[in-house]
Amino acid sequence: MAQQRLPAKSGIAVPLVKGQLIQVINTHGKQVVDTWAFDSQDPSSHLSMEHTRASLLKISIAVGDTLVTNRRTPILTVVEDTSPGVHDLLIAACDSHRYAQLGVKGYHNSCVDNLHNALKAVGTRISSVPSPLNLFMNVPVASDGSLSFADPLCEAGQSCTLRAETDLILVMSACPQDVTPVNGGKCADIHFVVT
Ligand SMILES: [Zn+2]
Repeated sequence: MAQQRLPAKSGIAVPLVKGQLIQVINTHGKQVVDTWAFDSQDPSSHLSMEHTRASLLKISIAVGDTLVTNRRTPILTVVEDTSPGVHDLLIAACDSHRYAQLGVKGYHNSCVDNLHNALKAVGTRISSVPSPLNLFMNVPVASDGSLSFADPLCEAGQSCTLRAETDLILVMSACPQDVTPVNGGKCADIHFVVT
């Protein structure tokens, strides 16, 4: 399939059947992509970061790793990663409360709103928001356990490819965070290819 564009600050839901691949391309290099996956038949079964950390016994992902649902079943496998492999499995998606806390007045796009809008467009609703897989997000963990938000290490055109391990709805949000430096200070488009 041809390359598709996800405009800066927006989200999209992409239905995938078991075995399909999605290549998420960091077109401009520094854009974080909050990523969720929901079982097509039952969205209450979804990609779960806490269950994935327990399964992998680490807070990072690499080629060959299989990510699991809140029911501990396989849902996505990392099949290729041309980026430095720095992704975040710890941080919640940005939401209206986060922007209010950061001093933003009035409406600001958020990954949580992008998630709900993307699911609505494919006729799916969820009752709570799972923690996302934050592709390309750089949250260094210091030796004392402290975290920080840093610029992504990804370069333009690098990508991460995931395989669907069940029929699912993948949701991506090109994170609209422009107050902290997690997107390198500038929100950008990303592209993706489904095969
Ligand atoms: Zn975000």
